Amino acid sequence: MTRRRIWVAGHKGMVGSALTRCLEKRGDEVLKADRSVVDLRNQIAVEVWLKQNRPDAILFAAAKVGGIYANDTFPAEFIYDNLAIETNIIHSAHAADVNRLVFLGSSCIYPKFAPQPIKEESLLTGPLEPTNEWYAIAKIAGIKLCQAYRKQYGRRYISVMPCNLYGTHDNFDLTTSHVLPALIRKFHEAKIAGGKRVVVWGTGAPLREFLHVDDLARGVVFCLDNYDEYQHINCGAGSEISIAGLARTVARAVGFNGELVFDTTKPDGTPRKLMDSSRILELGWKPEISLEEGIADSYRWFLAHEEDLPMRYGKSVA
Ligand code: GDP
Repeated sequence: MTRRRIWVAGHKGMVGSALTRCLEKRGDEVLKADRSVVDLRNQIAVEVWLKQNRPDAILFAAAKVGGIYANDTFPAEFIYDNLAIETNIIHSAHAADVNRLVFLGSSCIYPKFAPQPIKEESLLTGPLEPTNEWYAIAKIAGIKLCQAYRKQYGRRYISVMPCNLYGTHDNFDLTTSHVLPALIRKFHEAKIAGGKRVVVWGTGAPLREFLHVDDLARGVVFCLDNYDEYQHINCGAGSEISIAGLARTVARAVGFNGELVFDTTKPDGTPRKLMDSSRILELGWKPEISLEEGIADSYRWFLAHEEDLPMRYGKSVA
C-alpha cells in the first residue's frame, strides 16, 4: 500500500487524535497544523497553509464541539466557528487542488422527530432539536459544501455522520462536555469524596447511541478508502441506551454505589437519535468495542490524565 500524506484537521481533539493513531498505524503520513500556526477560522491562513502543504487527502475533524449545555448557551460560537472552519477548509481544499476530503458531521443534523433508526435520507425533512440547532445547521452546511464542490467540480468530497462519541482524549469539563465523560467524572469524584448522590441532568429517559472513537476512526478511514458518493453516510454503534441506563452502567464501571438524582430543570434534548448504519455495515465496516469495554477504557484514560485535564469549573461533588 502506498504511503499517503493526509491532513487531519483538528488533530488534537478526541476524533482527530483517534484518526491520527489509526492512520499512523497503517503507515500513512499525518500532516498536522497547530492552532498557533493556522487559525482555521482565518480564510487566508487556511488557504496559504493548504497550498503550501497540498495533502493527498483531508480528514476533517476540526470543529467547535460541546454537550447540550454548551450548545444551548453559546449558539453564536457554535454556528460561526463551525461555518467559518468548514467554508475555509472545503473551499481552500478545492483551491489547492486537493481532490479527496472526508467531512465529519453529527447525528444531530437529523430532524428531532425523524423516524428511527434514522436513515441518511431523513436529512432536511423536519425541524431540528432546538438545543443544538446552531451546530446542526453548520454541520448540514458542511455536507452541502462537500456536495456542491462534488457536483460543480467533480471533487471526491464525502461526509460521514457519527452518533454520540466518547473515548480517549474526551472532554471532562462539566460545562462543555457530553454526557458520558461528564458522568465518569461525576461518579469518580463522588466515589473519592464519599458522596452519596450524583446529579444526572434531565429525566434520564432520552435514548442515545454511543460509539467509541477508535471504532469511528476505523470507519472514517474505511470510508476514505471505500466510499465515494454524493450522499453522506451514517456511522453508528447500532444500539441505544437511555441516559438513566448509561448512568447506571458508568456508575458500575467507576465503582460508585450511591444514588442517582435526576435534575429535571436541565434539558433532555432530543428524545432519541438512533441512526440506521446499514449502508456502511453493508460496505464492510462494523463497530468492535462494546459500551462496557469502551467505558472501562475511557475511565482508565481519565485516571491516567486526571491531573492534566482542564477542570477549571471546580469539583463536581457538592
Ligand atoms: P446531546 O446528545 O447533543 O443531547 O448531548 P449530551 O451528551 O450533552 O447530552 C445527552 C443527554 O444526557 C441529554 O439528555 C442530557 O441532559 C443528559 N445528561 C445527563 N447528565 C449530563 C451531564 O452531566 N452532562 C451532559 N452534557 N449531559 C447530561
